[in-house]
Amino acid sequence: MVEAHQTFVIVGGGLAGAKAAETLRAEGFTGRVILICDERDHPYERPPLSKGYLLGKEERDSVFVHEPAWYAGADIELHLGQPAVHLDPDARTVRLGDGTLIVYDKLLLATGAEPRRLDIPGTGLAGVHHLRRLAHAERLRGVLASLGRDNGHLVIAGAGWIGLEVAAAARSYGAEVTVVETAPTPLHTVLGPELGDLFGDLHRERGVRFHFGARLTEIVGQDGMVLAVRTDDGEEHPAHAVLAAIGAAPRTSLAEQAGLALVDRSSGGGIAVDAALRTSDPHVYAAGDVAAADHPLLDTRIRVEHWANALNGGPAAARAMLGQDVAYDRVPYFFSDQYDVGMEYSGYAPPGSYDQVVCRGDVAKREFIAFWLSEGRLLAGMNVNVWDVTEPIQQLIRSGHPLDPAALADPEVSLESLLP
Ligand SMILES: Cc1cc2nc3c(=O)[nH]c(=O)nc-3n(C[C@H](O)[C@H](O)[C@H](O)COP(=O)(O)OP(=O)(O)OC[C@H]3O[C@@H](n4cnc5c(N)ncnc54)[C@H](O)[C@@H]3O)c2cc1C
Repeated sequence: MVEAHQTFVIVGGGLAGAKAAETLRAEGFTGRVILICDERDHPYERPPLSKGYLLGKEERDSVFVHEPAWYAGADIELHLGQPAVHLDPDARTVRLGDGTLIVYDKLLLATGAEPRRLDIPGTGLAGVHHLRRLAHAERLRGVLASLGRDNGHLVIAGAGWIGLEVAAAARSYGAEVTVVETAPTPLHTVLGPELGDLFGDLHRERGVRFHFGARLTEIVGQDGMVLAVRTDDGEEHPAHAVLAAIGAAPRTSLAEQAGLALVDRSSGGGIAVDAALRTSDPHVYAAGDVAAADHPLLDTRIRVEHWANALNGGPAAARAMLGQDVAYDRVPYFFSDQYDVGMEYSGYAPPGSYDQVVCRGDVAKREFIAFWLSEGRLLAGMNVNVWDVTEPIQQLIRSGHPLDPAALADPEVSLESLLP
């Protein structure tokens, strides 16, 4: 039973946290809502940091989830620039870095993730970068512009989404780009070899060099400046700056210290939550990048590090905190933009889960939809420069209905007509 005088605390002011706060008010909660974030900026969205904002095409103001004045208007109490440093689930308190102690009735952990660091000599050099925060994007934007002006070299460790998006941005500034990746193709674990290589070709055509099957072992520098990188197969690449884009780790330290159930790093990590996004403590919830949720539709526990999961997971957690019946079963979704190629991916098809990949459309022109199937059932679909198909793709995944691969591959057959 939620009462008017209760206090709901949200730790983490990213998209999940901000959307949860919005939902609490939209659902009529009249108690205190306190949002705590260690960043000084108001909650913002991160996708533009490797795309429009990095390219200088989007204004700083456009990345924020709400206008600053919205928080006061919605009576959300903000503690910005303040980390939550201690959580006591028995006393139901959270302590901030400045010593403030807050007592809560319900708590949402929306602490997101942080970039994984390279653990090799030279990582401390000033020319080694990460990309998670606005300040990182602003710094990197300056670096890319000056590399472009001076014919400088950027080495990117990691050919995942962020690595590739930054490679595209760097090329548009005119920088030389080499991407070093341990797998044999870009995006190997998400897309598999054939479709991963399609993104490889896209970048090669724009002058990006790849070094696959190799790992950085050293960043060589002098007087704080980066000069080159070395890889474990004995190669050396010139470099004036390095971006470590080797994935992100969920920020679980508060949950861990509080004794909440966590998921092993080998299984994806994160705070273990049920389908209502409730942790092992009944008064504490988790959403967004940090939450590893029981997914009713996929019938597995999954941690999704994507924008749409923060956008929808924050509100789902807020509704669960209000005592509503919640089964968070959204089909995972993400998007990416690189050069003139935009894509959307719906579903979940990890390596080994599918037995067939079929495409409809013109793969060579990069205008197509790829479908990942298991025994004829659709696990995932990716539309590349083809739009307005996310809904039928997600409905086909949700239906679990066996499909005729030939019909899926035929652009003359509408996706809607394949629904049961
Ligand atoms: C550069 C970049 C580009 C991306 N592009 C895409 C894209 O194109 N498509 C897509 O689907 N997804 C994309 N993503 C992923 C997407 O941005 C994330 O999934 C989303 O930001 C997750 O939101 P969140 O609220 O869970 O976490 P976050 O956005 O990480 O927010 C968590 C906040 O909590 C704060 N925090 C953590 N611990 C504490 C603490 N103890 N006390 C106080 N505050 C704390 C953090 O500093 C942070 O501000 C991108 C991510 C990045 C970094």
